[in-house]
Amino acid sequence: MWDVMILLGAPGAGKGTTAAGLVEERPDWKHVSTGNMLREALQSGTQVGLEAKQYMEKGELVPDAVVMKIVAEHLRVGPKDAVYLFDGFPRTDEQAVLLDQFLSESGEGRVSRVFLLEVAKEVLVERMSGRIVCRDCGAVYHLTNMPPKQEGVCDSCGGELYQRADDNRETVLNRFEVYEKQTASLISYYRERDVLVPVDGLSKAVAVKAILDAVAGPVGES
Ligand code: ADP
Ligand code: ZN
Repeated sequence: MWDVMILLGAPGAGKGTTAAGLVEERPDWKHVSTGNMLREALQSGTQVGLEAKQYMEKGELVPDAVVMKIVAEHLRVGPKDAVYLFDGFPRTDEQAVLLDQFLSESGEGRVSRVFLLEVAKEVLVERMSGRIVCRDCGAVYHLTNMPPKQEGVCDSCGGELYQRADDNRETVLNRFEVYEKQTASLISYYRERDVLVPVDGLSKAVAVKAILDAVAGPVGES
């Protein structure tokens, strides 16, 4: 059975960084980032990539059906008895419903926990303006808070680091707006289903530990 866990939080909350930290501790967990998958599709010029481009450039959401399709495909070809750590998906109520439908119709999985990374807005803006990303493995760094050992080079794979096209001031502000309008309501969606776990997202180490502790304990907010 697919055991789906979700990382939820504003842009810059540290979903990718936390996911990477978790996978270091639990190498058998599968990190699924729809942002990375879409950027890869865009780079290799696939049909999905072409369709997604216009939305991503503006910081808007790619249509629900397109994203659900790539996620479903990813689950279908992956191992069934694994933990899948979703980062950046679902992003709308509709995506959450589509995911639940897909999991129950296939009878192969369920959403077991949803971790809400909580970070103050000033911190979010600061993080995103200095964020740099590895072109090859997707690792995330920060120009001042978390610089790589060698400028422009990824510590883990040696790949080239770059600033994402949508990490500019205007697009960042739009992405926050999109989050407030379309994603924040997911918090109540999952709270109602008793799987929501709020986590302090200020430090990666603290967030990773809180999540591992929660996974070891009973489900539900306390
Ligand atoms: P961040 O969480 O920092 O905003 P992501 O890498 O998760 O960045 O996403 C970058 C862009 O990719 C989004 O602004 C959006 O255009 C697109 N995207 C990623 N995931 C989804 C999704 N689940 N639904 C719709 N669009 C998505
Ligand atoms: Zn890398």
